[in-house]
Order: sequence, then structure tokens, then C-alpha cells
Amino acid sequence: MSTARSLLDLQETDQQLAMCRRAYRQLKEELEAEGGVPDLTSRLERAHHRQLELKVEAARTESEAATLGERVKQLEERLYSGAITNVRELTAIETEHNSARRELARVDEAIGPAKVAAEEAESEHERLKAELESRKSEWTQRRKELNQERSRVSAEYKKVGAVRESATAGIPAPDLETYNALLPRMNGLAVVRVDRGVCQGCRVRLPIGEISRMQSATGLVNCSSCGRILLTE
Ligand SMILES: [Zn+2]
Repeated sequence: MSTARSLLDLQETDQQLAMCRRAYRQLKEELEAEGGVPDLTSRLERAHHRQLELKVEAARTESEAATLGERVKQLEERLYSGAITNVRELTAIETEHNSARRELARVDEAIGPAKVAAEEAESEHERLKAELESRKSEWTQRRKELNQERSRVSAEYKKVGAVRESATAGIPAPDLETYNALLPRMNGLAVVRVDRGVCQGCRVRLPIGEISRMQSATGLVNCSSCGRILLTE
């Protein structure tokens, strides 16, 4: 078997190894993301915090309205008690009463939206809590599958690695070196066939002279266009 032919076989093995590495990397990334559980947990914490804040805000608004209502009532009692006869004092109380009523109206209007916001935050919190629970149980199952798959890919990688080891045995060291250097630069395609005078790596038609040189050559021949190792049948 020619060296180029052996290198083509080796390249197939290397492609399998690259696939294993890619699969392993993807599994590792998915395992590290933990099915989005940590993200969802911090979202839930934020939602819980927000829910509490809005609950406090709604309660504060209600109590402010109660205080203002009380104040308005007191001022009204004084205004209409008939006990105050001083015009200046009456005018002052009236002004304060008006302003307290305006303030009360403003706060009363804020109660509804504050309650709605608190309720919405609460249901968002509940929704996230339920989502996290189901996400966690999904992840438990998925993690099991991923770990199994990772073990399988690791074993496969070891097996193919051993195949590679024996596949390199008959290849002259300098040729192997050329191939190893070319492989990453050529995106995993260092050895290509020549089909009807065309390099299958770069699709460039080889000069006639080069093909006959290749057929009589004892060592490796590289494509004059892309530099890949060429293999003719
Ligand atoms: Zn080429």
C-alpha cells in the first residue's frame, strides 16, 4: 500500500477522533450549563425579592392612605365643629384640609396599581418556582444520559486512538510529519484523491506533467495549488 493510501486511512481515523472530540466538547458544555438550573435559580431569587418589595410597597401605600384619611377626618371635625371662630385659623385649616384631600386622592389612586403589581410579581414568582422544579427533575434525567454518553464517547476515543497508533506504524516518519502539519491547516483534510485530473481538495485541474510525475514518484506528491497530499488510483 502506498504511503498516500496509508495516510488517507489515517485521515479517516483522525476524522473519527475529531468527531469524538467535538461530541465530548458539546457534552461537556451541556453538562456545565446544568440544564439552565443555576440561571433559573437566580431568576427565581430576583423574582422573590421583587415580589417582597412590591408587597411592602402596596402595604405602605395602603397605610399611607389610612393615615391621610384619618387626617382628613380630623380636619373636617375641626372645620365643622363650630368651635373655631377665628377666620384666619379657619382658612388655615381649610387650606390644610384641601391639600390633605388632594394627597389622599393621589395615594388612593396608587393603591390599585400597587396591588396589581404585587399580585403579578407573586404569580411570576410562583410560575418560576414551578418551572424550576420541573427543570430540576428534567435535568436529573438528562444529566444521567449525558454522563452515559460521555463515557461512551471517551471509550470510543480510546478505541479509535489505539487504531490510529497502529495505523501510523508503517508510515515513514517524515511523511507522517508532513501529514500532521498539514492536517490542522487544511481543516482535517490533508490527503485528497485526484479524480480525472482534478484535485478533490481545491477542485483545481492539475497540469498533465504533474499527473505523470505523480504516477512515477516514489514519495509523496502535493497539489501545486492547495498543497494537500495527492492520491491517485
Ligand atoms: Zn489542491
